[in-house]
Amino acid sequence: MVSAVHSETILNNWPLAAVTVARRVAESVRIRKSSMVRDANRAKMMAETLPPQRTFERLHERSCHRLWGYAFLLWLMMSTASYSQPTSDSQSTWVIALHGGAGALPRSLPPEVVARYRNSLDRALQCGIDVLSKGGKSLDAVTATVVALENDPMFNAGRGAVFNARGFHELDASIMDGQTLEGGGVAGLQRIRNPILAARLVMDDSHHVLISGEEADAFAENGGCATVEQSYYYTEKRWQQLQRALPLMKLDPLSSPAYPIPTDLGPDNNPEGDTGETVGCVALDVHGNLAAATSTGGRTAKRFGRIGDSPILGAGTYADNNTAAISGTGIGEEYIRHSIAARVSLRMELANNTLEEACKNCLEQVLRPNDGGLIAVDYEGNLFLGTNTPTMSRAWAHSDGRRECAIWDEPLLPKSN
Ligand code: ASP
Repeated sequence: MVSAVHSETILNNWPLAAVTVARRVAESVRIRKSSMVRDANRAKMMAETLPPQRTFERLHERSCHRLWGYAFLLWLMMSTASYSQPTSDSQSTWVIALHGGAGALPRSLPPEVVARYRNSLDRALQCGIDVLSKGGKSLDAVTATVVALENDPMFNAGRGAVFNARGFHELDASIMDGQTLEGGGVAGLQRIRNPILAARLVMDDSHHVLISGEEADAFAENGGCATVEQSYYYTEKRWQQLQRALPLMKLDPLSSPAYPIPTDLGPDNNPEGDTGETVGCVALDVHGNLAAATSTGGRTAKRFGRIGDSPILGAGTYADNNTAAISGTGIGEEYIRHSIAARVSLRMELANNTLEEACKNCLEQVLRPNDGGLIAVDYEGNLFLGTNTPTMSRAWAHSDGRRECAIWDEPLLPKSN
C-alpha cells in the first residue's frame, strides 16, 4: 500500500473552461506536430539504413519526401499560426520535481546530516528552476538538476555511486523528451563523470536509444563528456555498504575496491549516513513540453554487467506530452518487468486514468510493497510523488511560488488557502 503520507498529488488550479479548451486545441496541434517530428526522424533513420542496392530509390524517395515535407511545413505554419502563441497559462506555468531515491532512512539521522541532505535536494532543484523560470526547456531543466545530483557524493549517481560485487562502479542513466518521444540511455558506464550527459548525447547525436559498456564510455568521451578515474566515484559509505551486502548475498568478500582508494578525500567525499540513492527529475516547461531523467549507480553488490531500469525508457524513465513524465526508483528488475514508467503513461492514455490513479495503480497493485517509488508530472502540471517504501527523498516547485522538500512523510500538499 502507498500510505497517504507517502504519496502526494499536487494539483494545479486551472478552473477556467476557456483556458482548458484553448489548451486542448493547442494540445491537439502539438500532438500532430510531435508525431510529425517523430515520423520525420524515423523516415530519416530508415532511409539511412537502407541497403546500398536501393540507393537510387532512396534518393528518389528522399527528394519526394523533401517536397512533401516543405509543402506540409508550409501548411502547418499557416494552419497553426493562430495557435502558435502559448495561452496565457502556458506562458507562465512550469513545474519540476525530483527524487533522491526510495529507501528506508531512519529518523535517528543526526540533524546536521538531515540539514545537509535537504540542502543537496534543494540546490539541485534550484538548478532546474533556474532553467524553467527563464522560459528554458524541460529537457534542459531535468538535465541540469540531475547533473547537480550526480556531482553530489550524497547520492547513488555519478560521484557517490554504489559498488558492484567486484568492487567497482557501473553507472546507468536515461533521459526522454515528451514532445518528440526521443530518448537516450547509457548502461554500465565506468569513466564518464555525468552519465546523464552521456544519455543526452545518445538522444541528440545518435540513431539509437540505448548504448552499453565500453562503447557507451567511448561514445560519450568522443562526444565531449568529461571522463574520470573510477576513484572519482569512491565514497567510504558505499564501500561500507558493500562490505555489509556481500555476506548477506553469500558473495565472496573483498578486501579493497578494484582500484586504489584516493588519498585526498575531501570532507564532502564522505557524507555520513545512508542518505541519498538513485536520482531522477521530471519537468513541464512553459512551452507545454514534458521531460524526464533518471541516473543511478544501480544496486549495491550487483553482478558485473547487470543493467537496471534507470537507463531503460519505459521502465525507469518515460515522457510523453500527451500524458506525463515519470522517473522511478527502486528494485530495477521489477520496474523493467512491469514497464512501470510507460505503464503510468499508458494507463492515462488508454484507461483514462488521472495521473494519481495511474501512479497509485503501479505502486499499490502492480509493484510489491517495498519495491520503490516514483515521481511524475502530467501535461496539465499535476504532480505525483509517492513510494511504497518507508521513505523517498523528494522536492518540487511550481511557477506559482510553491516549493517543498521532504525526506520522510512530511506533508507536501499545498497549504489550504
Ligand atoms: N532502480 C535502480 C536500479 O535498480 C536502483 C534504485 O532506484 O535504487 O538500478
